[in-house]
Amino acid sequence: MFTRQNLAIAALLAIGAAALSAQPAQPAAGRTLVRAGQVLDVKTGKVADGQTLVVVGETIQSIAPTAEVPAQAGDTVVDLSGLTVLPGLIDVHTHLTYETDFDPYRRLTLTDAKEAINGVVNARTTLLAGFTTVRNVGAGGFTDVDLRDAINSGQVAGPHMQASGPLIGITGGHCDDNLLPIRYHAVGDGVADGIAEVQHKVRENIKYGADLIKICATGGVLSKGDDPQASQFTLEEMQAMVADAHRLGRKVAAHAHGAQGILWATEAGVDSIEHGSYINDEGIAAMKQHGTYLVPTLYLEDWMVEYGHLPPYSHQKMVDVSAVAKGNIKRAMRAGVKIAMGTDAAVYPHGLNAHELDVYVNQLGMAPLAALQTATVNAADLMGWSAKTGSLEAGKWADIIAVEKNPLDDMRVLQDVKFVMKAGVVYKNEAK
Ligand SMILES: [Zn+2]
Repeated sequence: MFTRQNLAIAALLAIGAAALSAQPAQPAAGRTLVRAGQVLDVKTGKVADGQTLVVVGETIQSIAPTAEVPAQAGDTVVDLSGLTVLPGLIDVHTHLTYETDFDPYRRLTLTDAKEAINGVVNARTTLLAGFTTVRNVGAGGFTDVDLRDAINSGQVAGPHMQASGPLIGITGGHCDDNLLPIRYHAVGDGVADGIAEVQHKVRENIKYGADLIKICATGGVLSKGDDPQASQFTLEEMQAMVADAHRLGRKVAAHAHGAQGILWATEAGVDSIEHGSYINDEGIAAMKQHGTYLVPTLYLEDWMVEYGHLPPYSHQKMVDVSAVAKGNIKRAMRAGVKIAMGTDAAVYPHGLNAHELDVYVNQLGMAPLAALQTATVNAADLMGWSAKTGSLEAGKWADIIAVEKNPLDDMRVLQDVKFVMKAGVVYKNEAK
């Protein structure tokens, strides 16, 4: 195996620098002028025609009318004059190291090595779909942390990434491994019970590189033997985890379907509720009071109806959750709960992330600008990255995508992104 690897490296070296530089990891030297047909301001919804974004290194230096920005010697010019340009999209709920596979046995055969390979493939797919930033909320063996580092070093193409490491959950809960009988002693990486254990797990995840903490407040759909409506961690356990995470500078994302778990997690001070399927008026009021973000993951229900073949222990749960989630989330949206876009990509194939926005607008009646903000400014705010990304502004990362028309007129155009630049590097350009 090592011999084969060494041979591959030798072959690459023999081909020379051209082959290596084919890996698009470094921004162009000097200025890159991105000539945009129109630029969409995702904060105001306003469109400005004929703009040029000046990119230097990883960041946007300025945005001005094209007539005011003549090309200089040494500039690289990117012609997007036929396209609408907007900031790269953000998905705050991905699982880049997981693949779409519900077969219980196949799930048991998932190794850290397989997760790492999945991650390399899925990170690229997600980036090319226009998602220049993701928050990864659950992976085995800290494979997400290694993936993040490989992306940051330029070794692998992928979005900017915050990684949670293993999901923290109770024995037998949504985030444990419940497929095997007791004699196999299978335990999920992040299983912890009681105050002392959950504190230890938070600190351990941070020790090994987690940017945020992901906890499982209630049961889930794709796990065996648990109830999405039942609370799992106690209020006190969640308070202990949030206190530790926040003291150590990490945000907390809570998987929560059931109403009681949503309320407890919110009262414990988590930064986001993931899924929120059974949210009720009490939960809505508490989330508004605490400023907690809701991260609906709704397109997966549509995808499941068409393509999902779930094992028996999940099928009825998916039916039950799907029957109520959209209605409840719609009420939370209307009540003014803050929303950040997440997809749970991996439950369905990576790269379809933008379908989530279509659900918000065309099924739940959200205003197109508000929907776009869930995947840009709001998502950046939830991640604590508002100074880095989420809008096209001088000083922020040059995370730029382009589509054929204004997405505020048709959200589905985001499902076919023609141009992707991340941190000043062009990864995709299908501009004609
Ligand atoms: Zn998830």
